[in-house]
Amino acid sequence: MNNIDIVMQDAREAFESFRLLSPSERSSFLQKLAAEIEAARETLVQTAHEETNLPLPRLNGELSRTTNQLNLFARLIEEGSWVEAAIDTADKNRTPPKPDTRKMLLPVGPVVVFGASNFPFAFSTAGGDTASALASGSSVVIKGHSAHAKTSQLVFEAMQKAISKAGIHPFTVQHVLGSGSTVGKALVQHPLTAGVGFTGSFAGGKALWELANQREQPIPVFAEMSSINPVVLLQHTLQENAAALAKTYAASICLGMGQFCTNPGLLLAVKSDALDQFLTLLGKEIEQTAPQKMLHSGIHASYTKGLSEVLAQKGIEKIAQSAQQPGNGEAFPTVAKVNASVFMQNPHFREEVFGPYSLAVVCADKAELMNVLQSLKGQLTTTIMATDADVEANADIIALQTTLAGRIILNDVPTGVEVCASMVHGGPFPSTTDGRFTSVGTTAIKRWVRPVCFQGFKDTMLPDALKNNNPLHIWRIVNNEWTKNGI
Ligand code: NAP
Repeated sequence: MNNIDIVMQDAREAFESFRLLSPSERSSFLQKLAAEIEAARETLVQTAHEETNLPLPRLNGELSRTTNQLNLFARLIEEGSWVEAAIDTADKNRTPPKPDTRKMLLPVGPVVVFGASNFPFAFSTAGGDTASALASGSSVVIKGHSAHAKTSQLVFEAMQKAISKAGIHPFTVQHVLGSGSTVGKALVQHPLTAGVGFTGSFAGGKALWELANQREQPIPVFAEMSSINPVVLLQHTLQENAAALAKTYAASICLGMGQFCTNPGLLLAVKSDALDQFLTLLGKEIEQTAPQKMLHSGIHASYTKGLSEVLAQKGIEKIAQSAQQPGNGEAFPTVAKVNASVFMQNPHFREEVFGPYSLAVVCADKAELMNVLQSLKGQLTTTIMATDADVEANADIIALQTTLAGRIILNDVPTGVEVCASMVHGGPFPSTTDGRFTSVGTTAIKRWVRPVCFQGFKDTMLPDALKNNNPLHIWRIVNNEWTKNGI
């Protein structure tokens, strides 16, 4: 047996016992995870700061988001209705007789999570993929990101303390480090792996998704990959709010040096004096933004290459760059513009340039703006900046936007993803490999379960969620009615 074999055998063994824990035992374990990570806050944040160049306040906020996320999933499974229990009782008098059937969601088994480079806490070792998989009852194997390997190891050590305090199987969570093309590949290909969570590049996510589909038994890969998050700026709001919009959007484009999957990479508007004024003011804001170090040399190299390639395309015009030249490893905040007719001819403009860059697309009229929107691939978000009158006059644009992305934002910025029940952080391919799911918020748990129907079972043989007297007191659909009552 090689090392990955041992890891996956252990993960499978842990799954067999972890999935049998009661919801309150699993909930208590998630709370212990949050507490141990909180207890290690100072060391974790300092280590992540040294490894990722991200500022301390941002990392402190991200760590809080991570522990809040674990506690949110703890409450979700304590409440219990997420299992979607449905019961249809037998009717022996019907012809043919109707059987007793009862359905609920059950965990799929060991899940492999790839840590993301741009969120060392919230999308990595104990981040959303791990929290949701553990909440579902699956064991987890984490492939830590090499750009913050020490942080990942320290978070894992905090998780091990929680495992020990909870007295659960020691291999409920495991952590491996190493290259994606060897270790990562072997984890995805291993026959005991039942699902994969990933956040990163399109090339990486697609490669893992293909590997999973080439297996003898294909498994789902939930990869969150690339998105340019188009923002539509409508006429009246540009006329009324140009200066405020310029400030807000410059800040969003450069937040975290643009290293967010929700970075507003495309600004669409119909040509007008108000648009010209907005773009001039946006350029001034960008000039005043200082370059900062990116997460790692690979991301920096990829941004520098992507930026120079896009700026070399025919018809693009640079609006502004930071007035300060970037130092070693630092990104160069940049905004540019292009006419929609040129944009439509060149697919290069639709590619993600991961960093503090945004492209304004100047459209001749509304019809051309809608053509541009229609030409885009699937996105995580799309935004509309508009007055009420603008919204009323442009319902067709909003209708089009709902087909394009998982989240539509009115009069705000796409950066910043709230962790809550109503959040959708997902979208049509290639923003993710499966637009029916979200990787943020409580419904992220649905990626790691499948529905199972129990037919003809005696009450004592059923899982608690499906027993007649509803011992978990959860909402269920019983004979087509929502109820918490027993049968
Ligand atoms: P990445 O290169 O996709 O790597 C993410 C993880 O996947 C790493 O653990 C990596 O392992 C592994 N991996 C990548 N390619 C693989 C393959 N072919 N087979 C097996 N495993 C593979 O992402 P990154 O390092 O975070 O950043 C690189 C680029 O990704 C950025 O420049 C940016 O364009 C994009 N990115 C996008 C988002 C987003 O949210 N949309 C977030 C972060 C980054 P190794 O480290 O060993 O390669």
